[in-house]
Amino acid sequence: MGLAVQALTGLVSDMQVISSITAMERQSKGWAARGEKVGLVPTMGALHEGHLALIRRARRECRRVVVSIYVNPTQFGPKEDFSRYPRSRRQDLALCRQAGADVVFAPGNLYLPDHSTFVEEEQVSLGRDGASRPGHFRGVVTVVLKLFNLVRPTRAYFGQKDAQQVDVIRRMVRDLNVPVKLVIVPIVRDRDGVALSSRNRYLSPEERTVAVEFARRLQAAARRKGDPVAWLRRELKRLPGARLDYVELTGDRLCAAVFVGKTRLIDNERVK
Ligand code: AMP
Repeated sequence: MGLAVQALTGLVSDMQVISSITAMERQSKGWAARGEKVGLVPTMGALHEGHLALIRRARRECRRVVVSIYVNPTQFGPKEDFSRYPRSRRQDLALCRQAGADVVFAPGNLYLPDHSTFVEEEQVSLGRDGASRPGHFRGVVTVVLKLFNLVRPTRAYFGQKDAQQVDVIRRMVRDLNVPVKLVIVPIVRDRDGVALSSRNRYLSPEERTVAVEFARRLQAAARRKGDPVAWLRRELKRLPGARLDYVELTGDRLCAAVFVGKTRLIDNERVK
């Protein structure tokens, strides 16, 4: 195949897809031995521009870029959407390649049948999403630490969209002396203001208009003087089609979650 044709079909990139744990370990051991800077972007797939912002940032800052794609069962509650979580492998791989990933690590399963060790953060993970989703952060922190051990990243990239996740992982890295630098990437929004999320695919057109209104009211609250929490709580309680989960000010971030139909949406904004 000529070079021009290769470029058109995207085959010039030699991105590797690794699904075995031992192959991933071998790869990262080699990079570590050569002192190469490795960036890890942990995802659950169903990739969108939010994920791509993380991958592109890693591409600019690291010699090697690994995107992990793994729908982690331990972070889903028994009544949550694990089995119907969107999966779009072919498209994900094409997007990773375009964004400049060197390796997509897509293990079939990261847990042995008798897996019995979990990492639990006991402070920052209380409240907000931790309160509505018991066990969620235990699953997140455990899988993130497993991924850190397998990939041995110099830097790991997370989105500000999941504000509490950032706080919990920061705490885990600090408390357990994990040798990785965390890089937090700003929230990527759609043109209508809605924070991009793989779960937005669940929304019907009517529900989407509720999601837009959720984002608008959050933005408006973050700009207001006075008590943004009380104001936003009142506004979201009044929003037809939405059921309020929480509104909370954590540091300088106004964080909120609502249910729209069966879909739970989270968002946050820095208070001005
Ligand atoms: P997920 O696949 O939902 O687990 O997300 C993987 C990573 O992408 C997490 O660090 C998320 O915070 C980040 N992410 C998801 N959506 C966005 C967004 N709209 N803007 C920025 N980062 C995002």
